[in-house]
Amino acid sequence: MNKSELQQQDREHLLHPFTDFHELGEQGTRVITGAEGVYITDIDGHKMLDGMSGLWCCNLGYSRREISDAIYEQLNTLPFYNSFFQCTTVPSIELADALAAVAPAHMNNVFFTGSGSEANDTNLRIIRRYWDLMERPEKRIVISRKNAYHGSTIGGASLGGMSGMHKQFQALDYIEHIQQPYWFGEGGDMSPEEFGVYAARCLDEKIQELGPENVAAFIAEPIQGAGGVIIPPETYWPEVKKVLDQYGDILLVMDEVIFGFGRTGEWFGADYYGMQPDLMTFAKAVTNGYFPLGGTMVGDRVAEVIKAKGGEFTHGYTYSAHPAACKAGLATINILRNEKIIENVRENTAPYLAKRWAELADHPIVGEARSLGLVGALELVKDKSSRARFDDKCTAGGVCRDLSIKNGLVMRATGDTMIIAPPLILTKEQVDELVEKARRALDDTA
Ligand code: PLP
Repeated sequence: MNKSELQQQDREHLLHPFTDFHELGEQGTRVITGAEGVYITDIDGHKMLDGMSGLWCCNLGYSRREISDAIYEQLNTLPFYNSFFQCTTVPSIELADALAAVAPAHMNNVFFTGSGSEANDTNLRIIRRYWDLMERPEKRIVISRKNAYHGSTIGGASLGGMSGMHKQFQALDYIEHIQQPYWFGEGGDMSPEEFGVYAARCLDEKIQELGPENVAAFIAEPIQGAGGVIIPPETYWPEVKKVLDQYGDILLVMDEVIFGFGRTGEWFGADYYGMQPDLMTFAKAVTNGYFPLGGTMVGDRVAEVIKAKGGEFTHGYTYSAHPAACKAGLATINILRNEKIIENVRENTAPYLAKRWAELADHPIVGEARSLGLVGALELVKDKSSRARFDDKCTAGGVCRDLSIKNGLVMRATGDTMIIAPPLILTKEQVDELVEKARRALDDTA
């Protein structure tokens, strides 16, 4: 089938996620046909540096045969069996063990799911189960943040704080949203440090307003990813820690779906920020995106109650701990460890990207160029001093959708912010290539 036939069938039969079908217009969807290393190719033969690792997934790039071979071998040995009803499989045991070894020391249990959204729904179920078993049924409310992204199921989307999403469904009524630590957009006259403390104190204010006896948990991404790579000011997480320590029993859920498995230069964002979450959501890069798998790491204080108090935890998915997915996870963790990928990000690539990415701040339409580990964002503005945005919505979108092909780079637009999260295997030469292509895309837009 040629490109236009494929696009026609696509138009007729495929309902794409997060897509405005009018926007596709005449041009239609872009058909991606191949990938190698950190590059993807489309049906027209355009080769693009994948600055988004797929969708924050392929941290090791696209050519790791160890992972695809592990999946293939497992499919030929035991293609499926579940981990329910007093059964288990060898890959699920091995991966649970490997995850406990790389997760923070107090996180020794894992509940597997098929995706990050399912994992956040699982968190909601675990939180309620935990407080019921603790005989504190009044602890029901979960606090999240505005503009957070925690998935697309009803639970995940209710936890998320994106107003556009909330308009399209009825959110769960026991989730409350507070200020996000978005200094560039919402910091006003405050310094980043002052704003970080302010945003964290909003958590305390909300707990007081709701009554601490009613608050079950606080959920947050270490850095808001889909919301625009919102790197919190340095004061934010230490102040959140102070607030939570003051109450002692409110559970902390860190959603590591994007930042888990090395993106900050540590295994998890929680390690980077020195936090000790009770629950930690993961997905995406756990299998390098090669097979669907998610889950939640459960800290000892919660897992022990759920295990010790008995009674069935009536929750699970058919594909919880799919054996081929678990094999993909094991192969991924082995590569990350054996090749010291995360150490290399921390010591080499991240500092180099930070230096080169910051150079883009001198561009006339860049209001801020920020990065941490191997994520980055460019805030596009019409006027640097007032931080006024462009009026039409094809500014950041223009860079991403049209010019990326021409310039051979995939970035993603979230509003007027361009974001990157390239594979962790990026070399310094490829950092140069990424930054130069991003500059060309900006020049074309300005
Ligand atoms: N949590 C975060 C922080 C995410 O970024 C995402 C997806 O991008 C999810 C949850 C949902 O994961 P999934 O798309 O695998 O359901």
